[in-house]
Amino acid sequence: MSSLSNNEPHFKPYNITLVGLQMGQHDFTFSLDDAFFAHFGKAPLEAANFTAKVELERKSDFFVLGFDINGTSNVECDRCLGRYDMPLRVKREVLVKYQHAMMPNKEDEINILYILPETTDINIAQLLFEFVVLNLPIKKIPCDYGDFECNEIVLNKLDEANRLDAGNTEQEQKIDPRWAALQKLKNKDKK
Ligand SMILES: [Zn+2]
Repeated sequence: MSSLSNNEPHFKPYNITLVGLQMGQHDFTFSLDDAFFAHFGKAPLEAANFTAKVELERKSDFFVLGFDINGTSNVECDRCLGRYDMPLRVKREVLVKYQHAMMPNKEDEINILYILPETTDINIAQLLFEFVVLNLPIKKIPCDYGDFECNEIVLNKLDEANRLDAGNTEQEQKIDPRWAALQKLKNKDKK
């Protein structure tokens, strides 16, 4: 899983200082916009606008991080190619434990991150990035989400084009290539 250290200056706002943090719950709010995602390079997001609420609970020897990320990203509809602000909400929980108490990594421990005893702060930029990007739907048909409706004109055009395509291939397959050649000659004669 992702790393909790990040020295990129852009990601400084996503630092959480653990040293001196009192026991109990601490709330943080972070915003994730285009600039945030752009720093990761190949960000597949446009006009992204997310708010991440993070509840950090300090227990005696570990931390519980509760993430609630909510927002929208502008995507292209896979069906009609219209643009739409697609809503996305991601809730996750991650445990952060000190490494001196580290157990051998188990397959099912995907939500546990380890830090060294001398760690003074953690950076959650990478985590936030992954939570959003990994939860984007593979098929983007925002028209299915509500407010936005597929562009009917485009849909009809696409339908028509598909039908024509399908028709052509069917016809080509049916005709013996030798006949097809003859047909071409015949057509030539007609002209
Ligand atoms: Zn659509």
